[in-house]
Amino acid sequence: MPICNKARRVLPLIPWLVGLALLAGAVRAEPVATPYGAVSLPFELHQVPDAPVYYVIGLSGVPDAENEGHTSNAGFVVTDGGVVVFDALGTPALGYRLLQRIREVTDQPIERIIVSHYHADHIYGLQAFKEHAGDPPVWAQARALGYAGGSAASQGEDAERRLEQRREALFPWVDEDTYVVLPDKVFVEGTSFEVGDMSFEVLHMGPAHAPGDSIMLVKDSGVLFSGDVIYKGRVPFLDSPQTDTQHWLKGLEALSQLEPEPRFVIPGHGQPSEDLEGAIALTRDYIRYVREVMAEAVADFVPFDEAYEQADWSRYHDLPAFEASNRGNAYRIYLELEDQSLQ
Ligand SMILES: [Zn+2]
Repeated sequence: MPICNKARRVLPLIPWLVGLALLAGAVRAEPVATPYGAVSLPFELHQVPDAPVYYVIGLSGVPDAENEGHTSNAGFVVTDGGVVVFDALGTPALGYRLLQRIREVTDQPIERIIVSHYHADHIYGLQAFKEHAGDPPVWAQARALGYAGGSAASQGEDAERRLEQRREALFPWVDEDTYVVLPDKVFVEGTSFEVGDMSFEVLHMGPAHAPGDSIMLVKDSGVLFSGDVIYKGRVPFLDSPQTDTQHWLKGLEALSQLEPEPRFVIPGHGQPSEDLEGAIALTRDYIRYVREVMAEAVADFVPFDEAYEQADWSRYHDLPAFEASNRGNAYRIYLELEDQSLQ
């Protein structure tokens, strides 16, 4: 039977072909309409084993028309007293898709939204929740309040300029009608709360990647939403004026000592993990390594370009976002350390 034989030869190739298509970012699903433009990406919902905790995983790379701005992760927890959402994705359309996914799982109202930090790729979806989910309160660390004032110092990102840039890069999903939703409630060190039968703890870990970086623990389920304090499967982004790598390392240290140890980690970008230490390792080792290499250069008065050329980047070279981020990261740290050495 020639057809069967052929099928037998082709079938094992299918996972490879799907993998290749994913790598090329070419996978498109049937477009799903939202009030903010159609989303054509597969928007798969995953569930943490044995827990009412769900999440979506963004694509790697910087937000562009190809990935429709879907570059970050977000999730939600279903309790019998309402839904707690963590982060809201990078466009109102994606926020709306997340809301649709929530509605496929539960009719419970959205009780609140916790935002890991005020960067565009995690907050533009809030608009959809404000307009279509009964205006649930948005919680974030207090420094988020300065975000819309155009004060880059508050969050390491100039809100107005970023919105302009996204209106170009992510049109039509980000357009003239897109606006920034500020938090309704803020915390400083953190906040603990209960919704229905579940208890939650939110802790401020910043300044790290951003000044307001916060994490959420779903205590009864042993699930940690780490926001951008943990990057997985790609070179972390350190190149923002408000990134504080020294304090970031302290935050990672604090995460590695959480008791009881979370059994499941959902990072701000990249794949989830059942191994907290492994999830922390890439971010921590990368920051340590760049700091070490640049500290040596600063101590020996080696100019940045020369130090960068001489450094051995082989262990990070093949990771996504290396080309886009590594040099900027190294330069940022070089300047930071140079500044410290002059003081
Ligand atoms: Zn992010």
